[in-house]
Amino acid sequence: MPTVDEELERIRRLLEGAHERGLVGALGDEDKVEGHHNPGAHGAGELEPDDEGMLFVESFRNVTSVPRGFTRGRNRPRPLSLVTTVVIHQTAVGGGFGLSARLLARHQGQAFSARQDRYRDTPYHGVYSPIDRASVVQWPAWVHSFHGNGANDYSVGWAYDGKLPGDVLDLHGARSALRHFVTAMREVGVGLRYVEAHRQHSNQRGGDPGAGIWSLVVRPLLDELGLEERADHTTGSGLKLPSDWRRA
Ligand SMILES: [Zn+2]
Repeated sequence: MPTVDEELERIRRLLEGAHERGLVGALGDEDKVEGHHNPGAHGAGELEPDDEGMLFVESFRNVTSVPRGFTRGRNRPRPLSLVTTVVIHQTAVGGGFGLSARLLARHQGQAFSARQDRYRDTPYHGVYSPIDRASVVQWPAWVHSFHGNGANDYSVGWAYDGKLPGDVLDLHGARSALRHFVTAMREVGVGLRYVEAHRQHSNQRGGDPGAGIWSLVVRPLLDELGLEERADHTTGSGLKLPSDWRRA
């Protein structure tokens, strides 16, 4: 005869399982991301560093549901066909996201691994960490996350983890990371065509991602990545791209 606690635990597991199956089942066949496990830090999918010592992480390939504790997005997956645009951000955190002693301890002192954990609290689908020289693609495009106000419905978010002006812009790393992000998304069928700035969707984000990232990272990659800049497209209180972001 099971105790009340054991029975409650059994029911809890049943509910959790049903929740996960519900999320996965809500995806159309064409929206399913191939199961693909890259072994690495905590199953994060750590790839080999390149010649410049950059790391490319594709943990998004292991994500089959949105964690229940995640408050920066909807639980229900969306069809990939809705996603046409990448919205560029800066995290505006000087030196990038810091790590608590507790989080570091949980990752045996490995900052790179701990920071990936920290990023999973953010709504960005992809993040570049200059401090770790790591490009992290963390959420699949079917995750409707709250990163860019009126652009959320049709976009994925990518962020440079730093504060600009202020920090030194890691040009090579940021370009490699954005290239990696767009390529990884397209590999699983996301039809990215446009690139927009967070500022285009909120007048509270006028400097997001700012002239440096836009003119030196995003614009030089437009042709190569086949992305179109929509300088005048705004939603809500958003602002057009200023001319000094578009000089380079
Ligand atoms: Zn932003």
